[in-house]
Amino acid sequence: MRSGTQRREIRLEGEAVHYVLRRSGRRRSVGLTLGPEGLRVNAPSRLPLQDLEEILRSKAAWILRKRADLEIRLNARPQLEDGSSLTYLGAPLLLRRAERIKRVERDGEVLWLPPVGPEETRAQLRNWYLREARGYLPGRVDALRGNLSPSRVLVSSARKRWGSCNSRGELRFNWRLMLAPRELVDYVVVHELCHLVELNHSPAYWRQVELRLPDWRARHEELRRRGFEFDL
Ligand SMILES: [Zn+2]
Repeated sequence: MRSGTQRREIRLEGEAVHYVLRRSGRRRSVGLTLGPEGLRVNAPSRLPLQDLEEILRSKAAWILRKRADLEIRLNARPQLEDGSSLTYLGAPLLLRRAERIKRVERDGEVLWLPPVGPEETRAQLRNWYLREARGYLPGRVDALRGNLSPSRVLVSSARKRWGSCNSRGELRFNWRLMLAPRELVDYVVVHELCHLVELNHSPAYWRQVELRLPDWRARHEELRRRGFEFDL
């Protein structure tokens, strides 16, 4: 049988690497992806295992580096247990779990969680932050926009970017910003607003940012350095 899915293991530079191998007759080349579930390898049905393993060995450095990065990211994810905490616009929120709670709800500095498992908790919390972002971010755009007029303000969950602006004048912001301090959120809002003037990162663009936020550099750096903290 050359089709279907198999769990396998290979040693790469002395380390055991488990992977899920999926073979398909339609594939022409070998594809690798690394996610929270580990390494997935998609390969053509006819490719001999030896050749496949040779390809994996030739990509060992990439696989091991990606795996280490992923581990750091997963370990940096906050605990979502009773008594642990998250941030909300930079301030701590204490997580408490209770039987009587049906859905995530905030009460001052406490965020109450329903009695569900860790992945369901994460999903519900993400939804909660998403709704909060929809409530908070348009107000910040309004407060900071000056004479600029975005056509729409939307909330997104694209992992790799804090915000974006397109040629239709639509601004998008990542809900994860709701975990960051207010001054970093404002920096991202100003950053995207200035793209309404210059849809690039030219010196003329940065002059627009500087005009509205003279200390943008420090905020930009802090977001770069601490960005990974603002996730769950
Ligand atoms: Zn930009």
